[in-house]
Amino acid sequence: MTDAEQHEAPRPARLVLVGPQGSGKGTQAERIAERFRIAAISTGDVFRQNIKDETDLGRQVKSIIDAGDLVSDALTFEVVRDRLTQPDAATGFLLDGFPRNLGQLGLLDTYLDEREAPLTAVLELGVPRAVSMDRLMRRAFEQGRTDDTEEAIANRLSIYERETAPILEVYRDHGLVDSIDGVGSLDEVTERIFSALAARGIVPAAV
Ligand code: ADP
Repeated sequence: MTDAEQHEAPRPARLVLVGPQGSGKGTQAERIAERFRIAAISTGDVFRQNIKDETDLGRQVKSIIDAGDLVSDALTFEVVRDRLTQPDAATGFLLDGFPRNLGQLGLLDTYLDEREAPLTAVLELGVPRAVSMDRLMRRAFEQGRTDDTEEAIANRLSIYERETAPILEVYRDHGLVDSIDGVGSLDEVTERIFSALAARGIVPAAV
């Protein structure tokens, strides 16, 4: 290997994906995780699975989620920390839906600092409110999620603007944010994400 190649060794994919409800985060998260062979960790999915399985955790969070409110930071972080210690997260991870406010950002930061494994990029997926509202109403119709009522959706979007958008300011100050235009076909958006990551030296490891 030449010197130049050594300097271009891929950087690990330790990623956060941020975007309003209906921005297509879930789909893009799966694609990113598949390409980099890392764990995709969606707090919303974990909670929904627990509700479905009627676990203690599921019982604790069901009414909160149905109202479109946020689960407590402590409980949410417990879920994330458990998941990050599993073997498939050892090479990298993509967090989808976490952190969701400044408190969660602080908990994650401290944890990753302790492990000396800081985030390598934060992807901000942007879509205009009218587009996300439209996609959510369609999903409500197709999937029948119990928190996809008009009221809960409006609540989640305003929590996003009030509590989640500010975390981007912090990450921006750390030079971690790539803003991705979320309007376009799924493939176009995926390509935008992959090239933004490549520009940071985050590329899949050779097999
Ligand atoms: P959406 O992005 O459409 O809100 P998610 O699947 O990300 O869907 O989240 C669904 C619900 O799960 C949220 O409305 C909230 O109640 C709960 N939840 C998910 N992630 C978090 C989090 N990081 N902190 C607190 N609550 C969360």
